[in-house]
Amino acid sequence: MNVVDFHCDVLCKLLMDEQLTFRAGKLESLDVTYERLKAAGTVLQTFAIYIPQLLNGRLEPILESVDRFHQLILTCEDMKWVKTVQDLDFCLNNGKIGALLSLEGVDGLQGQMSMLRIMQQLGIRAAGLTWNHANWAADGAMEPRGGGLTAKGRTFVEECNQLEILIDVSHLSERAFWDVAELSARPFLASHSNARAICDHPRNLTNAQIKEIIAKQGLVGITFVPWFVSQAEVVGVDDLLRHIEHICELGGENHIMLGSDFDGIDRYIKGLTHPGELVSLQDALLKRYSSTQTEHFMSGNALRFLKNSLPNA
Ligand SMILES: [Zn+2]
Repeated sequence: MNVVDFHCDVLCKLLMDEQLTFRAGKLESLDVTYERLKAAGTVLQTFAIYIPQLLNGRLEPILESVDRFHQLILTCEDMKWVKTVQDLDFCLNNGKIGALLSLEGVDGLQGQMSMLRIMQQLGIRAAGLTWNHANWAADGAMEPRGGGLTAKGRTFVEECNQLEILIDVSHLSERAFWDVAELSARPFLASHSNARAICDHPRNLTNAQIKEIIAKQGLVGITFVPWFVSQAEVVGVDDLLRHIEHICELGGENHIMLGSDFDGIDRYIKGLTHPGELVSLQDALLKRYSSTQTEHFMSGNALRFLKNSLPNA
């Protein structure tokens, strides 16, 4: 079965440690490797550019991350850079693994829309305005004051709409989420967030937020971060299925995708520690859902969405 994963942080590890390669190595310090994506049947992996707090706020580490993407990821023979609908079709028709670039937190663009336009030229196709904290664009989900978008943040959303860059609301404060919902003319996505009704965490989405994403024809990427899945000591694949079931109950069957957060986490769901183990999620889904529904969750919903929202060549 085809797999789409809309969020991983392997680029951050590749940025911070020059010894690492994207190929499976002896150290196995990466969750996402080329070999594991092949084993998983991945047709599209989104690579987030996330800059650790220590380096955050400057453009240079963002550009270095783009360089790592070209030097280490796109040099693997079956990886193919996806910037357009046509690139995605090529991957699907030729057994390639599509690689999509996203930006997680726009701090380093320093409020300059020219830098956002350059990001679009560099192939960025999705952008989350913040990580967990506040920046020039918006407040993040863990920012106690809970503000929304700034004036520049509003301009940013409008510019993203123009540039056909998808807005990722996963890390936004609730108020900023609703500002985006009101302002964005295009569907938006939460690349790696679960349902708050199942696991009460500020990084998860309320029922109202999930319904809004569905109404706007967007997507929710179910994430494997254990503490966003369950407050239990040991978290299993069945706990993840409760989030999928809940979003289905809200009418979201066609709006669910995966956003693993592999390489962004140091604890895992039991039996779901890297892309090579995604088959265990697929098997669990097939016990409860039809093969068509399972295929939609694993890849189909995300692919349909991207065919409607990526730029045309
Ligand atoms: Zn994140």
